[in-house]
Amino acid sequence: LFAGETDFLKGVVAMDGLPPADRLEVCFAGRSNVGKSSLINALTGRKGLARASNTPGRTQEINFFTLGDERYLVDLPGYGFANAPVKVVEKWQRLLKSYLAGRQNLRRAFVLIDARHGIKAVDEEILSLLDTTAVTFQAVLTKADKVKAVDRERVLTQVREALSKHPAAFPEIVLTSSEKGDGIDTLRTIIATLA
Ligand code: GDP
Repeated sequence: LFAGETDFLKGVVAMDGLPPADRLEVCFAGRSNVGKSSLINALTGRKGLARASNTPGRTQEINFFTLGDERYLVDLPGYGFANAPVKVVEKWQRLLKSYLAGRQNLRRAFVLIDARHGIKAVDEEILSLLDTTAVTFQAVLTKADKVKAVDRERVLTQVREALSKHPAAFPEIVLTSSEKGDGIDTLRTIIATLA
């Protein structure tokens, strides 16, 4: 599914721009700088496919990638910009809510969490939105290479505890490092075997 078959399809700024829901889809969410672009590039084996979208002006675009003919991989813009204009944030939230609530072929959301920091207040908003829109989500810890084993356990405990309060949470947590390759195959398998 991932061997050289990934392509950028389109960036979507409004519901009427969504591609037809003719195949299963997974989406990736996470606060800006969490390592989302790096992870998507590691997953697809294509450097530079997902660009780091570290500018508030680009926060409204939902980026669609094709994985062969069978799956869409959807890159939701990073959240948690300190200086994003209120109007931009509100427009983005409306689009995100419509997308999550209305996308029938969306099978799972992967919410990226920095393995050093765990789930923060800024993440809770999207987790609650995933609960209310009934989209199963799975926590993916990023930058695992940056934490010591002892800190990793503490963060995992915190994440488990936070997830237990969210009915839409899938219990298994995936630990990844885009830098070292940890967890990348696991994540590929999860995406490939979703039915
Ligand atoms: P995005 O804003 O969520 O798309 O984040 P990026 O993918 O641009 O990553 C943000 C920063 O974290 C960059 O400097 C990356 O090089 C770094 N980074 C991302 N993933 C990893 C990782 O697995 N390990 C390490 N050590 N650094 C990472």
